[in-house]
Amino acid sequence: MTEKLSPSPAADEALPQSRYLATEVPGPRSQQLHADRASQVTAGFGTALPVFVSRADGGIIEDVDGNRLIDFASGIAVTSVGAANRRVRERVTAQLQRFTHTCFMVTEYESFTEVCRWLNANTPGSFDKRTALFTTGAEAVENAVKIARSATGRPNVLVFDEGYHGRTLMTMAMTAKENPYRLNFGPMPTEFVRAASANPLRLESGEGSREDSADEVAARALASVEETLAEHGADSFAAMVIEPIQGEGGFVVPAPGFIAGLREIADRYGIVLVLDEIQAGMGRTGALYASEHEGVAADIILSAKALAGGLPLSAVTGRTDLMNTVHPGGLGGTYAGNPLACEAALAVFEEFEDGSLLANAQMIEDVATQVLADVVEQTSIVAQFRGRGAMLALEFADAQTLKPRPDLAKKISDHCHAQGVLTLTCGTHGNVIRLLPPLVIDESLLREGLNVLRAAILDAAA
Ligand SMILES: *Cc1c(COP(=O)(O)O)cnc(C)c1O
Repeated sequence: MTEKLSPSPAADEALPQSRYLATEVPGPRSQQLHADRASQVTAGFGTALPVFVSRADGGIIEDVDGNRLIDFASGIAVTSVGAANRRVRERVTAQLQRFTHTCFMVTEYESFTEVCRWLNANTPGSFDKRTALFTTGAEAVENAVKIARSATGRPNVLVFDEGYHGRTLMTMAMTAKENPYRLNFGPMPTEFVRAASANPLRLESGEGSREDSADEVAARALASVEETLAEHGADSFAAMVIEPIQGEGGFVVPAPGFIAGLREIADRYGIVLVLDEIQAGMGRTGALYASEHEGVAADIILSAKALAGGLPLSAVTGRTDLMNTVHPGGLGGTYAGNPLACEAALAVFEEFEDGSLLANAQMIEDVATQVLADVVEQTSIVAQFRGRGAMLALEFADAQTLKPRPDLAKKISDHCHAQGVLTLTCGTHGNVIRLLPPLVIDESLLREGLNVLRAAILDAAA
């Protein structure tokens, strides 16, 4: 392409924090670039909204047609501190002047140790910990399994309905949803055994109903976990891996007591409890880690997505006695804990230490509840409005039968996109709209975006 892109404002000029529609969405320039993309890029990548971005920060994404969209996606829960956070830019720019890479397995740098130190101190559990850094979330999940196997000498791993752990060969086997994650990619590794999750809504199985108490849901799911373990021999399990709020699976908040119950079962059988907080962690739910709401400390906890302000970095943090069973050289990766990404993470930690990110996550929940509560009550199409902090979702289903309605989720999402509000869908049936605004979004911008969503729901229900 030799054509010039429309000039974007200088990077030091603040991106206006207001929604603005210059053209339809996607605009003509984005449409042209999207068509060009299709001529060069594999068709295997999907796109939530085919808009090409010129700048992003705070709660706004600006596209190449000059539209400014309200961001309720954060690049899938990554840019919690904004996509052009000042501290992240300064630290990464300074590191860029010094060196971009050495490979931590070749020669070392301090920022790697400092990121590990912060995570050891700030993840739940007061026991002695060590951390390993990697690049992607899937890599963190895979390494947690390697460590658990090395520590226990056992092969099997328990995973859960509606779970999502990534797209690599091992992590797609751990992921529940068939299409698009597993379809045509088999055979799957066989050591992964799936158990029921404690989804209070239970649309799929038809067992249980909305009238079931949360205690019943948790007790039933725990009993089923015990059965599944017994079936394969509890002492064949190295680990159980679960998200404390399931992300791609539909922002499923487990029935209270379920995660604590898993903790108890894991202790009983010597199984390593791995909590995948790749999406729910780093302040998203109003606590630094979602498992704090459950009062549970994992043996191994995983961080990624929002860890480094948009740079690729993931972390496996766990009990020293587990983390140090691996032979020297057994863990690593060329780019693992890249120095630019480590500096970005240190900037994110500074934001947590003297900012108001956790309070903002709570503000987001409060405002969303205020704006959406009456439509959730009044319309029959929302089966549940759920989540914690800035990890919120609306599940669309038939009022009587609880049959999932992905058509409504799509219609409402499309409406929001056309109005300049970027929403994402998720869920095993694609019938959930999830809200993942950056934690730094202005309250007024948040309200404006939510009101667009509210109008779209009312329109779809009419
Ligand atoms: C996104 C995600 C992953 C995978 O992370 P990648 O960086 O895409 O490999 C794993 N687990 C959870 C819970 C996630 O949300």
